[in-house]
Amino acid sequence: MTHPTRPAVLTKFDLVTGLSPDREPLRRKLSNMRGMFSDEAAYEAQLQKEDVLLYEFYDMGVPALETETAYGTSITYAGKVGREFNMTKGHFHERLETSEIYFCLSGNGLMLMENPEGDVQIAEFTPGQAVYVPARYAHRSINIHPTDPLITFFAFPGDAGHDYGTIETKGFRKIVLATDSGYEVVDNPKWRG
Ligand code: MN
Repeated sequence: MTHPTRPAVLTKFDLVTGLSPDREPLRRKLSNMRGMFSDEAAYEAQLQKEDVLLYEFYDMGVPALETETAYGTSITYAGKVGREFNMTKGHFHERLETSEIYFCLSGNGLMLMENPEGDVQIAEFTPGQAVYVPARYAHRSINIHPTDPLITFFAFPGDAGHDYGTIETKGFRKIVLATDSGYEVVDNPKWRG
C-alpha cells in the first residue's frame, strides 16, 4: 500500500453550548459589529452600557484545500440591538461557487441568504434541521429566541475562503426585526447596492 495515511481527528462539541474543550473559539463582540445594525442610536447606547459577546465560532485550522472539509460550530447569543435580533456578521465565500451546510443543534433562529443578483432566501433553524446554503449565497445566522443561544454545526469546502468585506460595505438587502408575535423581514434601509 502506498496511500499516505493521516490520523483521524476527533473533536468534542457540546450539543447545548456548542463549545469545544479542544479548541479556542473566535469571538465577536458588539464593538466588532459597528455599522452592521440598522439602529445606530440603539447600537451606541448598548455599547456604552456593555460590549456584549454576540457570537463565537471555531476555525478548526483545516488546510485551505479543495480536497479538505472545514467544519465547526457557531454560537450566536440571544439579544437585540434596537428591534434587530443578534446576528453574525455574515459573508460570501471568496470562491463564490462553494456551498455550505449548517445543522441546528439547539436554539431557534434564521439563516438569511442572498446572492449577488439579489435573490433572498430565508430558512428557519430548529434543532435537528439542516440548512443547505447554495453556492453563490452570502449567509448570516440570526438568533430569534428570547433567551437561548443558537447553536449550529457547519461544514464547507476547505478552499472556500471568506469575503466579509462585501457585507461590511453593502449590508444584506433584508434585515430581521422583532415584533409582538415574532419577527418580520423588511428591506434594509442602510443597504447600498
Ligand atoms: Mn460560510
